[in-house]
Amino acid sequence: MQYPETPEKASKFALGAFKRLNELGVAANPINFAIWYEYFAGKNHDLKKTVDALAISDGNPDSSVYADLYDRFIIAGANIARDREWSDRIDTVTERIVSALTASGSETEEYGAALKSFSGDLKTAESLEQIRGLVADIVSETESMDTRTRELYSRVSQSTDEITELRKALDDSRRDALTDSLTGVANRKCFDQKIFAAVEDSQANGESLSLIFADIDHFKDFNDTHGHQLGDQVLRLVGRTLHNSLKGKDTAARYGGEEFAIILPDTTSGGATSVAENIRKSIASKRLVKKGSDSDIGAVTISLGVTSYHAGEDITAFIERADQALYMAKKLGRNRVICEDKRTEIAAVGA
Ligand code: GH3
Ligand code: MG
Ligand code: MG
Repeated sequence: MQYPETPEKASKFALGAFKRLNELGVAANPINFAIWYEYFAGKNHDLKKTVDALAISDGNPDSSVYADLYDRFIIAGANIARDREWSDRIDTVTERIVSALTASGSETEEYGAALKSFSGDLKTAESLEQIRGLVADIVSETESMDTRTRELYSRVSQSTDEITELRKALDDSRRDALTDSLTGVANRKCFDQKIFAAVEDSQANGESLSLIFADIDHFKDFNDTHGHQLGDQVLRLVGRTLHNSLKGKDTAARYGGEEFAIILPDTTSGGATSVAENIRKSIASKRLVKKGSDSDIGAVTISLGVTSYHAGEDITAFIERADQALYMAKKLGRNRVICEDKRTEIAAVGA
């Protein structure tokens, strides 16, 4: 995040943000404040567009909406700027190594030339005195070459360490940028990338590809009754369960709020339905206990929709069908798995 504005301008944006938060009755904590500050600063166009589209000024959204905006439009932007800086530093250090090695190459050449002329001079030397002088010269030439080689070695190894550290930081940061910080599963950005790649692969190799959409049942009531913190604990539990239920090339992602998606390459809708059913059972069987007390608060359930990719179709149509299956699962009473493809079959048989 970069804020190059003058103190006067920054105060203006900050006052605007405070005023808006007050009008909305939303707590002026750093996350909520940052959203409105950036909104009034006007440079974060995507954030502004999304805030306008969400019309959060009209209602009183819960903190998860602000947290989501913060992750997507403020943290992500800051990460991109920081990653670019790291990348530039890696380039600088690499250039430093290359120029040190190039310089050393020419020094080595000079040293080689000195040795050559030494051997020539040695052959034609006429006195012991002259030979002694030549040997003294070459010894000092060799010593200084040795010092330069040591220096070069230490410079290169220092730079290599620096590059290793920067690369690690960059890799960690890239991984973080694709991970949902609350649940540890892939985030929406990662889902968008993976579903695109999975559809491309399925088109190319003709293997089946399935998609599960999952949504926590009556989660609003849960939050209202037990509070957001416990709600967040439930989200973590769902994330963990999804993660533990998958294998191979599968990807579990937080699609948004309390909705999750699982991409299952090389899996038929039948296989994906069993995975979904196992996940449903596993979550429904867990008893939730309030941390710090022994009070049992029962279980949460989730509804799941399953579908598989139809060759040649649009990604949107594929996602839409999984969402429809999930909607059916909700409509038919929740805590269940509906497979869109089977539903169509059953409807066709029944018709
Ligand atoms: P349904 O069974 O039809 O899915 O009902 P629902 O109440 O789960 O669905 P609804 O879409 O009405 O409400 C979703 C709720 O999820 C609203 C919000 O309180 C909660 N939620 C979304 N994201 C978060 C989050 O990050 N943390 C917490 N604690 N709650 C969240
Ligand atoms: Mg829900
Ligand atoms: Mg929902």
